[in-house]
Amino acid sequence: MKRDILYKSTRNAALSVTASEAVLSGLSAEGGLFVPEEVPPLPMSLSELAGLSYKETAYEIMKLFLTDFSKEELLSCIEGAYDEKFDTPVIAPLRKAGNSWFMELFHGPTIAFKDMALSFLPRLMTTAAKKHGVEDTIVILTATSGDTGKAALAGFAGVNGTKIIVFYPKDGVSRVQKLQMVTQEGENTSVIGVDGNFDDCQSAVKRMFHDEDLKKRLKSGHFRFSSANSINIGRLIPQIVYYVYAYSRLLKNGDIKEGEEINFTVPTGNFGNILAGYYAKRMGLPVKKLICASNENKVLFDFFKSGTYDKNREFILTSSPSMDILISSNLERLIYHAAGDDAQKTLELMNLLAKDGKYEIPESMKEELKDFVGVATSQAETEEMIGTLFKETGYVIDPHTAVAAHGYREYRKNTGDETPTVIVSTASPFKFAGSVVRAMQPGTEEKDDFKLINKLCELSGTGIPAAVKDLNTLPVLHSKTTAPDGMVSAVEEILGL
Ligand SMILES: *Cc1c(COP(=O)(O)O)cnc(C)c1O
Repeated sequence: MKRDILYKSTRNAALSVTASEAVLSGLSAEGGLFVPEEVPPLPMSLSELAGLSYKETAYEIMKLFLTDFSKEELLSCIEGAYDEKFDTPVIAPLRKAGNSWFMELFHGPTIAFKDMALSFLPRLMTTAAKKHGVEDTIVILTATSGDTGKAALAGFAGVNGTKIIVFYPKDGVSRVQKLQMVTQEGENTSVIGVDGNFDDCQSAVKRMFHDEDLKKRLKSGHFRFSSANSINIGRLIPQIVYYVYAYSRLLKNGDIKEGEEINFTVPTGNFGNILAGYYAKRMGLPVKKLICASNENKVLFDFFKSGTYDKNREFILTSSPSMDILISSNLERLIYHAAGDDAQKTLELMNLLAKDGKYEIPESMKEELKDFVGVATSQAETEEMIGTLFKETGYVIDPHTAVAAHGYREYRKNTGDETPTVIVSTASPFKFAGSVVRAMQPGTEEKDDFKLINKLCELSGTGIPAAVKDLNTLPVLHSKTTAPDGMVSAVEEILGL
């Protein structure tokens, strides 16, 4: 008999909900994140997994976590998500360059890794709503540091019974990222620039989720909030799939032996992607180290080194904007597990984070963190890495991936660990053509993003992805901006509350 996996809140031991309920609510009522009460083991042997396609792997892994969805429901969500929107049927190809493999998670509609989960989540969410007889319009409220916004917009646009409102830091995203968002079609989409940084956007969105007065007015307007941010468990679970898939590809190609351990290096911001790798390891995937790569906003690097999480520092804008984050929300889930699934302890630490901007974990919690290694990459090292890898191998990577590639190079040099390693490649270089071209050809004066995209096409010898090709000729459909304290009124206006 199939056992249901329930989801607990990281801040309230008394709460436990089904997968579909967790997907619908996003956050739990007292501000906690939903976590599976147990992590299921892999459903079959590694060599059996090596015989499966991406979609088949997705079903085998996700059915173990999303236990209250039927087989038909899951298959329909998976079929709809991983279709021709991706430019390769492999979905997440592995590419060897230098001494490691790059797992390319940027073959979806917005050429960044968030497509992997956000092609799937809207379908899962509307399926969950139907299951629970929800008739209110689901309002997706999202704060983005660049890529989530467009991926969520692309995922939810035109999905019946939903509206999506995206807030982005108006000077904190690339020109291409901004154009991708403000040209978004779909009557149910709204995009608003905020005069502030990502944390300002995210904090205000979090406050709105807890605003009781706003909630009442939403209810009478037949709306309910949900979140497409990586705090939604429906974002996390689809990401476990590609860790398993990467392993099974290496095995299938004869690059590793069954059971041999591998490392993953993950360019990290909100800690969602790498946390999925942690769950894959707990399912029994032979993973040695999860190498957590930060850019100059190296809060996580310091945390893994010292056990103190301290966001009290200067916020630095880098060429890897999706990692310019000082509060990595998903770390709360790891903290909860490291504390032995202790909601009280987690709540205590998160209260300290809210009050003092920092907390220190006790020695007893460090054991669970030993699978992680933090690495940090400076702005100059990021550029140097893009240039060097291109020169040595002809392979071009984006700045986020370069942060990971350089971090891995340092890790390997310092530890001598030669375990086969997969670098998680989170964005197409075409999404950040300016930074990439300047790194490949220092001294490049060109400023126009679209000339730079053409230049990159010439230098790399690869075609321009459809997602950026015609971007500069599309009409701008969203031009609203606001100060952080105007975000609530903006939402009220859009919903007519
Ligand atoms: C979101 C994003 C990241 C960071 O992922 P997290 O899950 O937030 O850690 C890294 N690279 C790119 C390109 C992204 O869009």
